[in-house]
Amino acid sequence: MRETRDVATPFFLVARRSEPGGLNRRMKLHVLPAGPIQTNAYLLTAPERGEAVLIDAPGDVWAEVEPILSEDKCRLTELWITHGHWDHTQGGADVVRATGAKVLAHPDDRMMIETPEIMERFMGERMNLKPIKVDRWVKQGDTISALGMNVEVRHVPGHCPGNVVFYIAAAKSAFVGDALFAGSVGRTDLPGGSFEMLERSIREQIYSLPDVTVVYPGHGPDTTVGAEKATNPYVSG
Ligand SMILES: [Zn+2]
Ligand SMILES: [Zn+2]
Repeated sequence: MRETRDVATPFFLVARRSEPGGLNRRMKLHVLPAGPIQTNAYLLTAPERGEAVLIDAPGDVWAEVEPILSEDKCRLTELWITHGHWDHTQGGADVVRATGAKVLAHPDDRMMIETPEIMERFMGERMNLKPIKVDRWVKQGDTISALGMNVEVRHVPGHCPGNVVFYIAAAKSAFVGDALFAGSVGRTDLPGGSFEMLERSIREQIYSLPDVTVVYPGHGPDTTVGAEKATNPYVSG
């Protein structure tokens, strides 16, 4: 089910700072669960810039993204991959073919993204996964400039070796992939997983963000850093 949220308030502040003319700019966040296990894709559109960024690409997500891009009159410029698991990348090749969007991901998941058929082995199913060509490999501490904002990359291995957080301070938002969920954490029994590592990633890279930061996970509803620090039963704050 598609859901659109207005995240105008923090982005207005960004626009005022970066555009001395004070353009009446709005940014929208579209939450698009898609694919066989309802993986959240997040589409950020900036209608007055005519640009959009997609975070993760579950199977068949393009069918959801395309009408929003035309509605908001935006061109998709980038696809950011939180981690290389198939449920976050299955729709990526279609999105790139249709839009020419530049793809960003962490190098520790290079094999999964470039040779996704290796994942069919532990899924026990042939899914005809298509490789994605990554244009920019990002790592801990990198800054991405997109839609007139600065976005910080934080590396959070433990669920998957190359899981990263895309943190937009100006929007008080962190897109965390499958590291942390509302009231839960990512599974650590898949190849390259480790609970100790995940716990450290969550404490050092997510719980260190301001409590008011909204956490947008790869599955299920959003939450906040403060709420998880106070109540998460797996990793306490
Ligand atoms: Zn995952
Ligand atoms: Zn997932």
